[in-house]
Amino acid sequence: MLPVVWGTSRTMDLRARYQEIQDRSALAAESVGRDPASVCLIAVSKTVPIEAIQRLYDLGHRDFGESRLNEALPKIEALPDDIRWHFIGNLQSNKARKIGERFAVVHTLASEQSLRELAKCQAPVPTFVEVNIASEPQKAGIFPDTLDKLVENVIDCPQVQLLGLMTIGPANDEPEESRQWFRKLAELQAGRWESLSMGMSHDFEVAIQEGSTHIRVGTALFGERA
Ligand SMILES: *Cc1c(COP(=O)(O)O)cnc(C)c1O
Repeated sequence: MLPVVWGTSRTMDLRARYQEIQDRSALAAESVGRDPASVCLIAVSKTVPIEAIQRLYDLGHRDFGESRLNEALPKIEALPDDIRWHFIGNLQSNKARKIGERFAVVHTLASEQSLRELAKCQAPVPTFVEVNIASEPQKAGIFPDTLDKLVENVIDCPQVQLLGLMTIGPANDEPEESRQWFRKLAELQAGRWESLSMGMSHDFEVAIQEGSTHIRVGTALFGERA
């Protein structure tokens, strides 16, 4: 794995990795006849210090992902206003409203309680429903067979603007093993919404080939998290 990159002497590393991920992402899109511009790269900056986020911002990047509200708030305050912050962590219902108000996109709606809280936001919240695609016990996300029920209730909440489905597939060592789960998410999605949030550092290319529009990449950009 790549080492951590914070020191200023490592600026080139971040630049090179950013370029590499963009190149690989574009190649994956082209391999299935997709427009590379149809894939949004979310730089997952949880545990990453503000200076490193700023450095990627200075390279032109605007989409960043955070998992915890308390960690994200000081970053949102300190960094430029034109960043689109994506919430990708566990959406606790008691924080959902605040998260909906501070983030540009919420990727992890998975309960009726959180839906009711998001519905109280002042402005419409672009939202993904998180699906536990392999129905793994103790994992976040709703099971595929309860998706429709949650979606029916979203329709009654004009403040919750459904973009599509999100998943974190079962852990594996081999990116190809993710393909079946990404395909399954794309099938659940088919014809209903525009976007799919799937693919992380080790399997984003497979995800793009299976139709991902939002890849969430942390380690491959910023290095191993502490
Ligand atoms: C941490 C995290 C990522 C990024 O994972 P990497 O393997 O570091 O790319 C993506 N999505 C979610 C939901 C995460 O929590």
